[in-house]
Amino acid sequence: MLYIGCHLSASKGYLAMGRHALALGANTFAFFTRNPRGGSAKPISQADIDAFNKLYTVHNFGKLVAHAPYTMNLCSSDPAIREFGRNMLADDMVRMEYTPYQYYNFHPGSHTGQGIETGIEQIADALNMILKPEQTTTVLLEGMAGKGSEIGSRFEELRSIIDRVELKEKIGVCLDTCHLWEAGYDIVGNLEGVLEEFDRIVGLKRLKAMHLNDSKNPISAHKDRHELIGFGCIGTEALVKVTNHPALRDLPFILETPNEDEGYAAEISLFRSRYCNEEECV
Ligand code: FE
Ligand code: FE
Ligand code: ZN
Repeated sequence: MLYIGCHLSASKGYLAMGRHALALGANTFAFFTRNPRGGSAKPISQADIDAFNKLYTVHNFGKLVAHAPYTMNLCSSDPAIREFGRNMLADDMVRMEYTPYQYYNFHPGSHTGQGIETGIEQIADALNMILKPEQTTTVLLEGMAGKGSEIGSRFEELRSIIDRVELKEKIGVCLDTCHLWEAGYDIVGNLEGVLEEFDRIVGLKRLKAMHLNDSKNPISAHKDRHELIGFGCIGTEALVKVTNHPALRDLPFILETPNEDEGYAAEISLFRSRYCNEEECV
């Protein structure tokens, strides 16, 4: 079963997102837990959650992949920004429990001049402060393109963060095809090799979700510019192979392409039409 969806606006609540997803042909989706640029979060309505959880079950949705706000930087050189990020993360962990057993994806952070080692320690410290044994949410580190002082563009960096996290069963990884490519991982020419490398360094069992994007830039650009599927340097065929790869095909795939509804629906339908049955695979 292909689980595929896109980023949806959370402004009208959970049930509205569920219905929106279904209208686009999606059976998973991503959403910002709060304003992506700010810190405020709307109160959650239990009635909305109850209605959504029912819809979720009836329509066999796959794991949701919530996204932390971009303003969350757990390894900023500014202690106030680090604290702001930790407070958002802690609050988001409470909010995520309204929809139990889902994924919460975040950008590990930018060390803003402190160095990768210090950044990694601060990210892990924050996770160790906030993750709780009783939480059902799995927190995903997103692999990054390596723009500026971003941490997490190398598999080794993701591994170092995970190594320092105490509650390892609460942590996973989300890989983004645009970020992989721009970080220098050749998913077009050598998907097999990239996945072998990830397995060796991080472990494929930690890979819980994929972001499916084309890229405006050539490999190793470190710029993080998403493109519509088939209009960038990765191309449709390589992305179709990603969704069909035996190690990936059961994961939730989230489109983060610069689209409106119509474009998302078309991309979802494209990947569905190219998704193989077990018997006849590419
Ligand atoms: Fe992201
Ligand atoms: Fe992404
Ligand atoms: Zn990106």
